[in-house]
Amino acid sequence: MTECEFCEKEFDEKTELHIHWGEEHENELNSHQQEKVKKAQRKKEENKEAKTQKRRNLLLKGLTGVTLVIFAVITVPQIMSMFQSSPFQLDQQPMMGDENASVTVVEFGDYQCSHCKTFDSEVKPQLKNEYIDSGEVKFYYINFPVINENSELAARAGEYVKANDPENFWDFHSELFSISGPLTQELIASTANKTTNISEEEIEEGLTSEEANSNVNTDKEVANKNGVKRTPTVYVNGERTGNSYEEIKSAVESNLENEN
Ligand code: CA
Repeated sequence: MTECEFCEKEFDEKTELHIHWGEEHENELNSHQQEKVKKAQRKKEENKEAKTQKRRNLLLKGLTGVTLVIFAVITVPQIMSMFQSSPFQLDQQPMMGDENASVTVVEFGDYQCSHCKTFDSEVKPQLKNEYIDSGEVKFYYINFPVINENSELAARAGEYVKANDPENFWDFHSELFSISGPLTQELIASTANKTTNISEEEIEEGLTSEEANSNVNTDKEVANKNGVKRTPTVYVNGERTGNSYEEIKSAVESNLENEN
């Protein structure tokens, strides 16, 4: 504590006292005291400047943090989704579900493959009930005909139906999977007749169409490029998973969680 010799007011620090001198007793000060006032005023100014600078730095730091957070929120998911969906061009593939669904499941399949038949009759319906119908998952099918000539024929039929009667594609697709035994041209044609608006004659022509053939080849290239060796092979947001419902469900759930 220090006391003002002019008015007996008390101050914690000398600097405060000297500031007080300058404000209240300017005319009573000797030259030595006037020096002290000037010194105290300089110190006060410096402190003020230092505080302002500190605030500026804090603000800047905060802004950098906020900018980083904004960057992370906006950009990281975009980058992630670029990587996640990058292995496949899916816009020409048949899709089931809401196009805005955040999780993408892709199946590479062969209509003659028995595990794919099980996948279509047991796994896909569960996926549909739990995630596709709710708009959380969209499902794509890509042909990977590997078993025999009938696989190739059925894949072409699928491409033809997708191009000419897309509304009925999934009915045709599941009906083909429900048939056990060789998918002959006649059987494929009668299946198309039963599930789509395409006549038997039309689909028979479709089976030899250049467009259907080329689409199947594109599908095979995608499969080969990604190292797909067997069917069904399943990807969830660009990452390969097992093909059981539990494995797919767990991948879907972890992608849905990451999103939140
Ligand atoms: Ca295709």
